[in-house]
Amino acid sequence: MKIKLLGKNLEELKRVVADEGLPGYTAKQIAQWLYVKKVRTIDEMTNLSKAARAALNLKYEVGVTPYAGLQISSDGTKKYLFPVSCTHRRGLNLGCTLPETELENSAVEAVMIPDEDRATLCVSSQAGCRMGCRFCMTGRQGFHGNLSAADIISQFIAVDESDRLTNTVFMGMGEPLDNYENVMRAIEILTADWGFGWSPKRITLSTIGVLPNLKRYLDECRCHLAVSLHDPFGPERLSMMPVQGAWPVQDVIDLIKQYDFTGQRRVSFEYTMFGGFNDSKVHADALIRMLKGLECRVNLIRFHKIPDFPYDTSPDVVMENFKSRLNNSGITTTIRASRGEDILAACGMLAGEHNRSC
Ligand code: SF4
Repeated sequence: MKIKLLGKNLEELKRVVADEGLPGYTAKQIAQWLYVKKVRTIDEMTNLSKAARAALNLKYEVGVTPYAGLQISSDGTKKYLFPVSCTHRRGLNLGCTLPETELENSAVEAVMIPDEDRATLCVSSQAGCRMGCRFCMTGRQGFHGNLSAADIISQFIAVDESDRLTNTVFMGMGEPLDNYENVMRAIEILTADWGFGWSPKRITLSTIGVLPNLKRYLDECRCHLAVSLHDPFGPERLSMMPVQGAWPVQDVIDLIKQYDFTGQRRVSFEYTMFGGFNDSKVHADALIRMLKGLECRVNLIRFHKIPDFPYDTSPDVVMENFKSRLNNSGITTTIRASRGEDILAACGMLAGEHNRSC
């Protein structure tokens, strides 16, 4: 099997060209072909000599994986399905009771969300997930492996909108901070001047609060942060999200409060509204107390009911009241518009169907 050039940073590409006896400047040329011109084959790298291309072709390939499925919503949201070959790593398992299995033919999804002049790509970082959140279809699939940096970057290149993407969120399948090295490598490629050249302001990483790697992320990366909070009360949150047992959300908030979010980097909190579970005034007030002193925003999210789960989304009037309570306390709060409902854009649906049929 050939080695993928995609997903390598400039240092690694320098090692590739050194191994092949090619001039050092070739590494930057290859990076441009991969991440700026987005070629699919080494033969398209026409400013490399024929001999250099032939040498590279013996061992390497570009490594873009075309999408294998596509659904388009009436609102323009597009859901892409990608086959992936995962690197499996046993380790942390916070509540997924399904066996960890390495699937040869696993699949992940990326969702492109158009919004006026923006096109945001929601990308996956793992096939399945081992965090076991009860309300999540991806969590129900179990964990099949980490995506390589190549698999992550390939999602950006293979979608039809590649050249007009304006933003990205690491909010697809998987917990990005449970695949830290590969996600950070992908972010490096997205933000480097030899790579995509994106500003960190265009990138948001969403996490349920994997505390040790969250600290690394806050120390090492200038991109935005979104935290899936969902409930301010520990025992209730634990009943939905096993991660609470390992890293209580209060510890996550305490850590975040040590960093500055008054400048370009922003932090937001995702709060999925489960009717009769986490949507009372008591919950709103506890959330206000928890976030006090933090420059942040809260996104309230309608829940799309899934099978064998006791809660439905909160009624609109309850969501509006919850929002007003937070806004009146000074916390900017919005109700996130639902997108792509007719193609089941909820996390994990499409890939779940694919994996079940494998
Ligand atoms: Fe994993 Fe996120 Fe789903 Fe939780 S919500 S199981 S972290 S993909």
